Parts: sequence; structure tokens; C-alpha cells
Amino acid sequence: MKSIERILLENKAWSKEKLMDDADFFKRLEKIQKPDFLWIGCSDSRVPANEVTNTDPGEMFVHRNIANMVVHTDLNLLSVLQYAVEVLEVKHVIVCGHYGCGGVRAALGNQSLGIINKWLRNIKDVYHNHRDEVDALGDIDIKTNRLVELNVMEQVTNLAKTSIIQHAWKHHNRPTLHGWVYSLSDGILKELYSMDESSGIDPIYQYDNP
Ligand SMILES: [Zn+2]
Repeated sequence: MKSIERILLENKAWSKEKLMDDADFFKRLEKIQKPDFLWIGCSDSRVPANEVTNTDPGEMFVHRNIANMVVHTDLNLLSVLQYAVEVLEVKHVIVCGHYGCGGVRAALGNQSLGIINKWLRNIKDVYHNHRDEVDALGDIDIKTNRLVELNVMEQVTNLAKTSIIQHAWKHHNRPTLHGWVYSLSDGILKELYSMDESSGIDPIYQYDNP
């Protein structure tokens, strides 16, 4: 059987299993989604948001891109963020990186990879700001993993620089921003960093009337 046929068959089996557990499962979700969480993760197939958090459909709004970036000109990410914060009223936004991230590793190298160069440039900028710390680590795997952590913290801070988050903090005291890293070797999420309405940011990024 072709792999594409297999996943369609698996879908039928999954739907049946859900209905056996809870006959109203799909009916309930059809009417409304009210997730508490927005997940901004890496596109890597080994870090699926729902599976690693054991959450069901309806519990998590998800955006994924290469190396879980929050880029201030990315209309896709910003649209997801605005919808999640202003319409779904999520309580938490999670930026989740993962050790061994191919995007972060590529950003530490010098090979030209085509259009993705422009995306990885944002990670090179994070490295540039922490060059001394990262270079002191020596081994490429250790360097990559530290840059994964630094990148997650940088992307959380990038969220705090948006007028979307600043507006929600000022008027609704939410959401809390979280920076996590997932370990491919044991499946565990590590909490690295968090920010909320009481966290300060560099005043140059703070809007008077967000
Ligand atoms: Zn990755």
C-alpha cells in the first residue's frame, strides 16, 4: 500500500476510535474552538504540538515554521497571533524550539541554501548577538543546542515587542509568553523563559498606546 493511502485509512480508523470513546466528540468541536494555548513551534516532523503535549483537537492553536521564528514582517505569523490573542483569547503563547534543530544548525554554517538563506538570517542575527558565548562551546552539537535556547528566548522577546501582545497585556493582563525546548532524545519539554504583563522590555520597543 502506498504511504498516502495508508494515512487516509489511518484517518478513518482514528475517527472511528474517537467516536467510540466519545460519541459527541466531533459534534462538540464543530460548534466552537476555545483553545487556551497558541503554540509556535518548528516545522520538524518529530515535534508535533498535540502529540508531545497530549492535547486533543480544540485545545491548541498551532503555527509552525522553520526554527519557530517570530519575525516582525511575517504576516502569516502575525495574523495567527492576532487571531489567537484577540479572537480566541488564548491565555498562553508557547514558543517551542527543539535540540538538534536543523534550521539552527544550518544558520551556524556558511553554505548558501537558496531562499531559506533569508529566513535563517534571523537566526544568524541571534548568533551575532551571542557570538562569544556560543563560540566558547566548541563542539557544533553543543553550539547548536545553546543557540536553540538563545533563539527561543529571542523569539519570546520578539512577541513582547508586538503591539498585539502589548495591547493584550495592557487591557486584559494576558497572555503569558513561554519559551520551551523539546528534547528529541527523551521527549521532554524544558521550560526556559517566560514573560507576562509585568515584564519589562527595552523602551524603544514599547508603544505608548498599543
Ligand atoms: Zn527545527
